[in-house]
Amino acid sequence: MLLEKIFRLNPYQKRALIKLGLLTAGDLLRHFPARYGDVAVMKNIGDLTKGETAVIFGKISNLKTSKAFYKKIPMAEAKITDERGNIKAVWFNQPYIAKMFSEGSLVRVEGKVALRRSDLYLSNPKIEKVDKIPIGVGESLFGSAGDVHHLYPVYPESRGVTSNWLYHSVQKILKSSILENLTDPIPLEILQKYNLPGLKTALVWIHSPKTENDALAARKRFAFEEVFFIQLERQKARRDYEQNPTFKIITNKVGLNNFKSRFSFKPTGAQEKALADIFADFEKDRPMMRLLEGDVGSGKTFVAAAAAYAAVVTRPPIPSTRGLAQGEQDFGNLQVAYMAPTEILARQHFESFTEYFAHLPINIGLITGSGCLKFPSKTNTGEATKISRSQLLKWVANGEIPILIGTHALIQKTVRFKHLAFAVIDEQHRFGVIQRQKLIRKGEMAPHLLSMTATPIPRTLALTIFGDLDLTLLDEMPPGRKPIITDLVLPDERQKIYEKIRVEITAGRQAYVICPRIDEPDPTKLLALQAKSVKAEAKRLKKEIFPEFEIGILHGKLKPAEKEKVMEDFKNGALKILVATSVVEVGVNVPNATMIAIEGAERFGLAQLHQFRGRVQRSNHQAYCFVFTESQKGNAVRRLKALQQAANGFELAELDLKIRGAGELAGARQWGLSDIAMDALKNLKMVEAARAEAQRIIAEDPTLKNFPALAEKIHRAEAIHLE
Ligand code: ADP
Ligand code: MG
Repeated sequence: MLLEKIFRLNPYQKRALIKLGLLTAGDLLRHFPARYGDVAVMKNIGDLTKGETAVIFGKISNLKTSKAFYKKIPMAEAKITDERGNIKAVWFNQPYIAKMFSEGSLVRVEGKVALRRSDLYLSNPKIEKVDKIPIGVGESLFGSAGDVHHLYPVYPESRGVTSNWLYHSVQKILKSSILENLTDPIPLEILQKYNLPGLKTALVWIHSPKTENDALAARKRFAFEEVFFIQLERQKARRDYEQNPTFKIITNKVGLNNFKSRFSFKPTGAQEKALADIFADFEKDRPMMRLLEGDVGSGKTFVAAAAAYAAVVTRPPIPSTRGLAQGEQDFGNLQVAYMAPTEILARQHFESFTEYFAHLPINIGLITGSGCLKFPSKTNTGEATKISRSQLLKWVANGEIPILIGTHALIQKTVRFKHLAFAVIDEQHRFGVIQRQKLIRKGEMAPHLLSMTATPIPRTLALTIFGDLDLTLLDEMPPGRKPIITDLVLPDERQKIYEKIRVEITAGRQAYVICPRIDEPDPTKLLALQAKSVKAEAKRLKKEIFPEFEIGILHGKLKPAEKEKVMEDFKNGALKILVATSVVEVGVNVPNATMIAIEGAERFGLAQLHQFRGRVQRSNHQAYCFVFTESQKGNAVRRLKALQQAANGFELAELDLKIRGAGELAGARQWGLSDIAMDALKNLKMVEAARAEAQRIIAEDPTLKNFPALAEKIHRAEAIHLE
């Protein structure tokens, strides 16, 4: 039911509710409290002491506007009175507050108690009008508060609807017939098995818990529910995909060994194991859906290339399911699509592949926003030539180009394959579900899918968001890589580190300096607390530290041509130091850059810091990562120490989850998980249980005909995905 039908809403409230994404009673019921305030902090005015943060209830009076003595800032003032005393409240820069309340109305005020001369006062407290006694305070507002242990919910608010309004509105719905008519989509047996409260109970408990345990049990239920639904949806999508016919690929061992022997290195154990996983999937009758997760530099391209080899030397079963058109030549072999997120990466893969496949009569195509290439060219077999888009599309459609590498351009409608059997998505976290689906629908049959990522994420998150993918870890680095030396640098060691950088640059190396901001000041921070900006830091380094070196800057607001120029100058050594924002995280590859200094490291997630560090792991020279930090204690340093010690990205991701909490996981929010589901990610048992139950249900009842409430939920989730 629409909220407009239940409540009389003014325009401000309507706007605020839309902003909060709350349109129906159901939405409101699922707008959970961000936290609970304990009524114990509720105080009588007479008991207030300097420095504490307190909630008081009282009558408001003496409302007026004035100008603060200091700098003449406009302000509002008022007096709050309860039975045991009164206190002054002031609001700087918010004179309108004096007009928002009428003399004598009841208010709830929350803020920090300060002292000026000998009088206590509240400075910029939160204030809202109340017409009811808050829960848990007993009959009289300031009556016996002694045995009170109720918790009051604090909701995420928006200008126009306060937490208090949300509380009362939710309570009204909870008492109405709307609650009675809800069906619980989670099957009863599952609730019982895991000791989870039913939907109605959980809603009451989460919005007005009598005890902390009620609130926790309710949160656990909703966390389970969310992970369970995601799992169901992914498992169902996977099952649906597996229903499609696919190409069986039986690997030609001799040819494969020959292909591998042309590389200058021996594959790592992890690479061999990944290939074994893939080849086992290739031989099955259903399409592979696999995620290959491995740190930057762990050699994912090699795995993709060897698997691609197995595909392109395989002939499809004859006759082709489509049949040949009259006069059409059959170029026969199976095809491979390889999608990368940026033009630089796509081109890099194209160049690698032309080298890997040079000994075979196999055409390789490149399609990006700026044009198309084919290798080998008709005239000169050692080189690639520019070809027109239409020519390329024709050769892909008739099978003459068996390997097509590209950016997003690869999934445009006009690109059709003849026998697409294997699709690779590189840096898959940069693509959405839709793009993946577009890619795998490019041929007559369902291709085997290999997604690759270097984003280290904790196991629980991987199990949840990649519930439809089998997981292979590349958890071994190629031998001979010198570990990067990671140093935590405190302010008084800065100069020493700059001298070290100077020595290395003089010896021919280059350095990145990463700053959290481009240049705009952060309005929420005092000037003294501002993070370093690329522009200011580059200026400072040039003027005060490294006047002898050329310094460039790189950030997201530069025009593409400017970016290219800067990268070119850094690559060819004209620039010795590149001061940049997090844009260097992906795709940049300058082997001679062996140092990376990170300013304001506290502001980056561990996974992201790890990615930065990956930038300097590309040469034979010793590489360094200098992490500048201001604080010497607490979580910040624990996190940075973890960065120093963790052997690989996976270990780091788990540590990050433990230390910082799921809510701050780099990039986790982009997966559309709510705060409550993030909670669940700390609980591997819960995630595994949700996954196991989802798998069981889909296996027993793939269309969910016995679970109509579940089917409806999943259906809605699918609709959102396809938008
Ligand atoms: P990523 O996993 O980040 O995509 P790449 O595939 O780009 O890593 O590989 C990084 C570098 O390591 C490349 O230069 C590649 O040729 C090299 N490489 C890959 N596998 C091995 C190996 N087993 N031994 C030595 N070097 C390897
Ligand atoms: Mg790669």
